[in-house]
Amino acid sequence: MTGAATLLKDVFGFDAFRPGQEEIVSAVTAGENVLAIMPTGGGKSLCFQLPALMREGVTVVISPLIALMRDQVRALKAAGVEAGALTSGNTEDETNAVWQALDDGRLKLLYIAPERLAAGSALNMLRRIGVSLIAVDEAHCVSQWGHDFRPDYLRIGELRRALDVPLAAFTATADAETREEIVAKLFDGHAPQSFLHGFDRPNLHLAFAAKDSPRKQILSFAAARKGQSGIVYCGTRAKTETLAQALRETGHVAAAYHGGMLPEDRREVEARFNVEDGLIVVATVAFGMGVDKPDIRWVAHADLPKSIEAYYQEIGRAGRDGAPAETLTLFGADDIRLRRAQIDEGLAPPERRMADHARLNALLGLAEAHECRRAKLLQYFGEEADGCGNCDLCDTPPETFDGTEAVRKALSAILRTDEWFGAGHLIDILTGTLTDKIRARRHDELPTFGVGQDVSRHAWQGIFRQMMGHDLIRPDPERHGALRMTEAARPILRGEESIILRRDTLITKTRRAAPKA
Ligand code: ADP
Ligand code: ZN
Repeated sequence: MTGAATLLKDVFGFDAFRPGQEEIVSAVTAGENVLAIMPTGGGKSLCFQLPALMREGVTVVISPLIALMRDQVRALKAAGVEAGALTSGNTEDETNAVWQALDDGRLKLLYIAPERLAAGSALNMLRRIGVSLIAVDEAHCVSQWGHDFRPDYLRIGELRRALDVPLAAFTATADAETREEIVAKLFDGHAPQSFLHGFDRPNLHLAFAAKDSPRKQILSFAAARKGQSGIVYCGTRAKTETLAQALRETGHVAAAYHGGMLPEDRREVEARFNVEDGLIVVATVAFGMGVDKPDIRWVAHADLPKSIEAYYQEIGRAGRDGAPAETLTLFGADDIRLRRAQIDEGLAPPERRMADHARLNALLGLAEAHECRRAKLLQYFGEEADGCGNCDLCDTPPETFDGTEAVRKALSAILRTDEWFGAGHLIDILTGTLTDKIRARRHDELPTFGVGQDVSRHAWQGIFRQMMGHDLIRPDPERHGALRMTEAARPILRGEESIILRRDTLITKTRRAAPKA
């Protein structure tokens, strides 16, 4: 799947597959007939767009919504993919351009409205252009019992027979009757490879903790699980080495793994991990693709992952055997700063950067959640869920407080110093700490000086981190990471909105280790 992973990053700008995507992409790419049921917003389009790029020839995409087709074509073209649509909404120029690209053999994805299939000429045209895959979006439209029945969808079966190519059907509607009807009408009753797993992995215990003393936190998490196989993900190569060493010194069997190691050394760690019991691999995200071990009992993140998708993929390596497995993700203000900087300093176009910030916000929202983490995670992937009883927040609901006043004080300190300082200095101002820098800048003369004395320094750090997590403030890379207020903070500053914050637990409680399966 390395080719797919490269395209995922280079063309679509994503660093990890969403739940279910990887399996579907590899089945579709391999030319299987596929029926995939994914919730709305789960990321279906990638599951045919990526295989379209991996396969020779043209992928025909049939979709009922013209606006949606045009959106997808626009996005694909912006990413440098040759795509076009033949719909009634086209201008003559657009249609001619599509024909030209088809004639030149350049086109990779051809979107067609289903009513086009009614014209006999369409089939001849499609025969001529070397179609290698048919993708059907909103496949439930073939069902007469559903609410979205489209008579033209019934022609898709004919098309598949005539072209004799694989077909991949996608829908968010999963009831059994509709499924049967899709199989009957689109696949002539021959069962396709079906994907309809929910995203939930109920045996994984989910937990996040604010980074306090990360090394200690990871060591104590591992100590409670001695003898079990686990993975610690780190943000840097150097950290994998030092943390592996620290684990060995405390009596664990541990190995580092990162992209800077020799291929044969990496392969050796993978091989050992697959067969040995109780090995801990301390790794960068480079570790995982080649790992196929069902009984990984825990995954810890020493640093915040890149995105909610990466988080899900990385914790998802634990507990594949279905037995209980534990996860712990550490996060701190430095992680947020680093991730924001990576996005801002990257070469991605502005829209993609905005989307990356939004995805990071989703992960931070998960980190700073007040209620069931699993419910929040599944919601992000489009699934409904209630309190799960198997996450840190269900175990121990966090103590919260009305943080509005504190946030306003912090914002005021930021604004009165013209958004030119980082959290350390701002906390000095709030707590009334007379440092040389405070004196030199005469910040002890500000009205905000000392207004936050009632709150400890440590608590202020938690408040600043949560403000970053809620995207009320962002570090500005052009000001050496100085914190600046975002638009989202304005209603709080004006007193129009209030905000509830978590009281950080200073000592990270580690859970009892899961019993050995
Ligand atoms: P639907 O399943 O409703 O058709 P889309 O294919 O439109 O969903 O995808 C929903 C959103 O998820 C889009 O904004 C898309 O960019 C995003 N998305 C899809 N796959 C990934 C991924 N692997 N990582 C991050 N975002 C993704
Ligand atoms: Zn829960």
